Parts: sequence; structure tokens; C-alpha cells
Amino acid sequence: MKLGFNEGTSLGCSNLELDLKYCEEQGFDYIEIHTPKLREYLETHTKEELKEFFSSGRLKPYSFNSIRRINFRTEEDWNTLMEEVDLFCEVGKEIGCDMIVVVPTPRLPEYHIEEKTLTEIEESCMEAFHRIDERCKKNGWPMRIALEFVGLGEPAIFCVNTFEQAYGIVEKAGMDNVGLVLDTYHFFGMGSSLEAVRQCDLNKIFVFHINDVDELPRGFWRDVNRRWPGDGYMDLDGMFRVLKEKGYDEAASVEVFRPAYYELSAEENIRTAKEKSRKALSKYWTVE
Ligand code: ZN
Repeated sequence: MKLGFNEGTSLGCSNLELDLKYCEEQGFDYIEIHTPKLREYLETHTKEELKEFFSSGRLKPYSFNSIRRINFRTEEDWNTLMEEVDLFCEVGKEIGCDMIVVVPTPRLPEYHIEEKTLTEIEESCMEAFHRIDERCKKNGWPMRIALEFVGLGEPAIFCVNTFEQAYGIVEKAGMDNVGLVLDTYHFFGMGSSLEAVRQCDLNKIFVFHINDVDELPRGFWRDVNRRWPGDGYMDLDGMFRVLKEKGYDEAASVEVFRPAYYELSAEENIRTAKEKSRKALSKYWTVE
């Protein structure tokens, strides 16, 4: 099993340059690049430098995180979102990264998702997939699009929030380059079913995020309650067992947004992420 590092994990204590350095040192296989860190990096570096980094070491780019709030957006919003898609294509082409994580829209006053039916949500996802897919192709860099259902209860619920719902949408889209992000936090956060994972086509799981959680009831999970894998009460073993039985052996990427972990140095944050992930996964997979 390959190990990935999602840059959200060190959001408050590092930048892309340091993430690259310490992920390489710690022996991570993949990094998931966050947009704000990428933009900041490009203020003082070039995409050619980024390419140079990835061509020399073990660490490889895995995905761009993310295009947010893909549902029920205005034409004007889409113009802005497309600038991000263009950035991902431009950099992706250079460094060989062809995956975009896309995130559904939360319940906020301007989107009225509380009035939307499942069918309308599904249709707006399809629209987003097609818009992004066409834009990438137009840019000469076709990308894979990974829909990340979000199982947070607080501060707002999201319009795609279970594995079953997201899987249904991706299946219905019927596009080879459209799949899912399976994040254990979002999975357990809204009580998705392990049986549904057991039944799924593994080829549709493009990204696998791992983490753990404070001991809170369902519906109260916030991003800040995320913990290192193995340090909470999540049924990670249940998830790992099912994936192992199905023959999943691609990659697991640690993704935590806990303010206390931002008080660590970048090096300590990334080293701990590696140690905790490796320990949790090692019961089921060989992890270097
Ligand atoms: Zn995630």
C-alpha cells in the first residue's frame, strides 16, 4: 500500500515547499496538493521547479484539492471555478498530475440546498463533471475527477454526504474519468454502510483518505475533530478489513485538519502523520 500526505494535515504549520521536503524525507509516496499552498508556492517558484522536484525523488503528485461547492453555482461562479481548473491543468500537465478532487456544496443561505431533491443534486453533479471535463480537454490535459462526499454535520451539512449517494451519482455519470474520494471521516460521519463498500467497484475509488475522530455523536463532527489514524474511536479496522478483502492495494492518504497538530513543526507534523498512518495500515497491508 502506498502512502499519501494530504496537505490539509499541515495547513497551519507548513507550506508546499516544506511539505515536499519532509514528505520526501519521511518516505511518503504521494502528496495531495492544496490550492492555497500551490498559489503561494507559485508566487516565488515556477511550475518547472515543481516538475524538477518530482522528477528527482520518490514523492509524486496525487491530486489537486480541490474544486469546492460544485452544486448550484451561477455562471459567474463557474467563471471563477474554471480559473482554478485552468491552474490545475497548467501545473498538472507540467508535473504529471491528472486528478482533481471536487467537493459538493454545503447548506449555506445562498445555495438553498435544503430545497433540493436528490435528483436535482445528482443533475447538478453531472453538470459539474461535464463542465470540468470539457474544460480540461480544452486545455489539452484530460483529468480524472474524484467526487468527495462530505459527512460533516457541523458547521453545515453537505448535499452529497454518504458513500451510497456519491457512488450512485458516479455510477450514473458513467464516465471513465469520474470516480470517488472515500474519506473515512466523511464515511463514518454520516453513517455510510460498509456493506455498500463491500459491493462497490474498486475502480471507482480514485482516492482514499484516512484519519480518526474525537468521541462525538453522529451529526456533530467538524473538521477540527479529526485525529491521527488510530487515535480515535472510528471503526477503521472495519473499513480496512473490507477493502483488504476486496483486494484494494492502491494508496491511503492521511488527511487531518486539527488545529492542535498545527502547533507542531512542519517536520514533526509530517513525521507523526507517517508514523500513525503506517501503524494503522500495517495490520492489513505492507507499508514501507
Ligand atoms: Zn478527504
